[in-house]
Amino acid sequence: MKKIVFATSNPHKLEELKAICTDRCNVDFVLPPEGFDPVENGKTFEENSMIKAQEAARLSGLPALADDSGLCVDVLNGAPGIHSARYAETAQKRIDKLLNALNEIKNRKAKFVCVMTLVNEKGEVLTQKRGECLGEIAKKQAGINGFGYDPIFTVDGKSCTMAELSEYEKNKISHRAKALEQIIEYLNK
Ligand code: IMP
Repeated sequence: MKKIVFATSNPHKLEELKAICTDRCNVDFVLPPEGFDPVENGKTFEENSMIKAQEAARLSGLPALADDSGLCVDVLNGAPGIHSARYAETAQKRIDKLLNALNEIKNRKAKFVCVMTLVNEKGEVLTQKRGECLGEIAKKQAGINGFGYDPIFTVDGKSCTMAELSEYEKNKISHRAKALEQIIEYLNK
């Protein structure tokens, strides 16, 4: 079985990845070695996911897959975007800050974006894929599943937040699942 490092320190992301990949591709995804601390100074999801994948490959000497993801809100010109993880100090503060920023605003359109980059053991980019999940910022938070902004993201076509969906349901429609589907297709070619 081929070993690929999944360049993340977020255990939720590894869980989602494994749930989607099980029985779908012949790959053993492993965490990056200790000391994995990439400098995410890119200006786009594409640049940042490439930086993470290349750092994981450099440290491990193995092929690596990385994702960079975030929430982009239309009326905030795409913010918090690539800064989603650092928008405020804690997950709850990030949610409160976004709800306050959209207080009284009617246009609540938003999307989750995920870009995945796969590099070989030399750090050369093999492929890069993007997945998006469209929706709206809810008026108040609801649900306890998932992570991050899930409790305030209402998915288009569903009448609940992402955090009210089961892991199985989220993995059918999420930005990460959509990017990963294309990576699995590439790996199975
Ligand atoms: P990254 O780890 O640099 O990709 O940061 C992504 C940040 O975007 C996370 O810390 C979350 O705040 C947010 N985010 C990305 N994907 C999701 C998701 O599936 N649900 C909720 N928040 C997400």
